[in-house]
Amino acid sequence: RTVLRELTELMIKNPDISPSETLSDTDPSVFHKRYLKKMRDLGEGHFGKVTLYLYDPANDGTGERVAVKALKQEDGHVPDGWMKEIEILKSLYHSNIVKYKGCCTELGGHVVQLIMEYLPLGSLREYLPKRKLGVPQCLMFAQQICQGMEYLHSKRYIHRDLAARNVLVENDNLVKIGDFGLTKYIPEGEIYYRVREDGDSPVFWYAIECLKESKFSFSSDIWSFGVTLYEILTRCDHCQSPPAKFFEMMEGSQGQMTVMILIKLLEKQMRLPCPKDCPHEVKILMQQCWAAEPAQRPSFRILIENFEAIRR
Ligand code: ADP
Ligand code: MG
Repeated sequence: RTVLRELTELMIKNPDISPSETLSDTDPSVFHKRYLKKMRDLGEGHFGKVTLYLYDPANDGTGERVAVKALKQEDGHVPDGWMKEIEILKSLYHSNIVKYKGCCTELGGHVVQLIMEYLPLGSLREYLPKRKLGVPQCLMFAQQICQGMEYLHSKRYIHRDLAARNVLVENDNLVKIGDFGLTKYIPEGEIYYRVREDGDSPVFWYAIECLKESKFSFSSDIWSFGVTLYEILTRCDHCQSPPAKFFEMMEGSQGQMTVMILIKLLEKQMRLPCPKDCPHEVKILMQQCWAAEPAQRPSFRILIENFEAIRR
């Protein structure tokens, strides 16, 4: 018993020593906090904060760079959605979806951090304004997003937060969908998910039925893809961002009424304008993504076929 007490005391004094250590040492998805060396902040969204770390168990600077996502609020309370986000990302394997690497758990088993691969070029929002991308490359990225999304939908998940800020850039020829914070599973036989939480939602990317009835479906992801396609073709220019453009259309009224005015606008068939160098066929696709009737919108499969044809 004294041995046990001594061990417990030791663990309290030095939380990094734990009996499970020898087991977890061989599990590549278990990351130990003490080997994570902070390099810099990568970005912040509504719920999470993403930081670049060097994971360096040998302690000689030879480790690998990883992106670590932690919850912003650190009051010890772990929301349900957080573990779900980790579980979902863990189950996804696709070349256009950011790779899950593992977790980092604190003593007591909570405050987990999500470890994923680091994409050096950041999100499309950081990448696009800095480059002078031609239309063909924009369309290649758009098609890759569709490929990742088609896979996600095939697993019966809806993303609910597709936007340029949530698409990461690996290199000039490859993008991956990141951030599965709002992703929901749609059970077989059902077609939509109704939100209950009333968070800080990305309303300008939302389909009209999401704004009116909080109904999220595979088709509402298509609408958000249309907005993401618009962002790509405007090269994420701040002055032409979806919020900026919709506020222009709303003629200055802001605040509490925003969503109501936005709904009125969309009901009058008003949509984001066609980006400057957007090819006609792509403009048609974008407008189909924004059809008022969800059933009229194309699927990601149809979008991929269209992009293949347009890019030929
Ligand atoms: P949130 O759920 O809070 O929106 P995100 O997962 O979207 O968090 O991450 C916020 C930002 O951090 C992104 O817009 C991007 O700039 C950066 N980021 C996220 N993941 C990575 C990654 N794996 N590699 C590089 N940058 C990343
Ligand atoms: Mg995000």
